[in-house]
Amino acid sequence: MISLEQLVRPNIWKLAPYSSARDEYSGKEAHVFLDANENPYNGPYNRYPDPLQRELKQMLKKVKGIPEENIFLGNGSDEAIDLAYRVFCNPGRDNVVAIAPTYGMYQVCADINDIEYRTVLLDENFDFKAADLLAACDANTKIIWICSPNNPTGNSLNRDEILKVIEGFEGIVIVDEAYIDFAQQLSMRQELPKHPNLIILQTMSKAWGSAAIRLGMAFASKEIISIYNKVKYPYNVNQLTQDQAMAMLKDPFEVDKWVKILMAERSRLMQAFLELPICEKIYKTDANFFLAKMTDANAIYNYLVEKGIIVRNRNKVQLCQNCLRITIGNRTENNELLSALRQY
Ligand SMILES: *Cc1c(COP(=O)(O)O)cnc(C)c1O
Repeated sequence: MISLEQLVRPNIWKLAPYSSARDEYSGKEAHVFLDANENPYNGPYNRYPDPLQRELKQMLKKVKGIPEENIFLGNGSDEAIDLAYRVFCNPGRDNVVAIAPTYGMYQVCADINDIEYRTVLLDENFDFKAADLLAACDANTKIIWICSPNNPTGNSLNRDEILKVIEGFEGIVIVDEAYIDFAQQLSMRQELPKHPNLIILQTMSKAWGSAAIRLGMAFASKEIISIYNKVKYPYNVNQLTQDQAMAMLKDPFEVDKWVKILMAERSRLMQAFLELPICEKIYKTDANFFLAKMTDANAIYNYLVEKGIIVRNRNKVQLCQNCLRITIGNRTENNELLSALRQY
């Protein structure tokens, strides 16, 4: 990896962050707070939340095994994705490289930030070779995006190839593990201490059943995390979100139960799809959804919409012609989908 100073945009490297009242004083002993122009009434939501979400990070440390100083929390993973561009990429000059097809936000945020977005098509098994990603890079490539398990394909990518990218690239490699709690594949979290150019993204939106609260995580070196903290909005994770996330983290075993149930439902649903005459193929998945190649994805999608059942039509996505992406619901929802498809 080249030095962080060479990778970070010069204006960000030099940035003096906004210093909030809560940053300047964060001791526990004080009991009269007249420093932040808050209203003394309407507790507990009258106070600004902790800008660094320390209590929440302490709980995450126990669940994820990552020290607080290596954790960034944002308004969904989407915030961590956007911040990567704002921290590392000079608009109009730098580029990033990503697999395709993959999660759409990497490209949207590249476009918003005026960063060239280069793609490398996955192979017929929806997997990739490190050499192909590295060959797409040049001196202005700041970030390589890898999503594993990948969305919309569902499969985990080859771990050795991911490691080869991390080891072979001079810039930042971001591995999005939004679906890792459903995967057989190990998280890359253990690799963090060995790789200062690695950023791992996870989220409360999927296995943790908390998409509404908007809480995304980035795990990285403490140097990268402190730059992220300097660029983010001071109070980017609101108190209601922090409270609800901590309530969820108190009982992580509930999440394990949901994951088990969803995995069982996934097998049942995929088996049933195989028997549908309108389903041509289902793809291997390591996530809480699967991709199914249908005889006519557009027509089947519209038919399901008419019945009030919404799946994701991926027909227009590269390599996903005639594919629907099916999220695993509860047993009742899955049965409703199946009986609608059987009547098609
Ligand atoms: C759903 C998803 C996310 C989650 O985004 P949030 O902003 O945390 O809700 C991130 N990455 C991928 C690949 C996803 O599919």
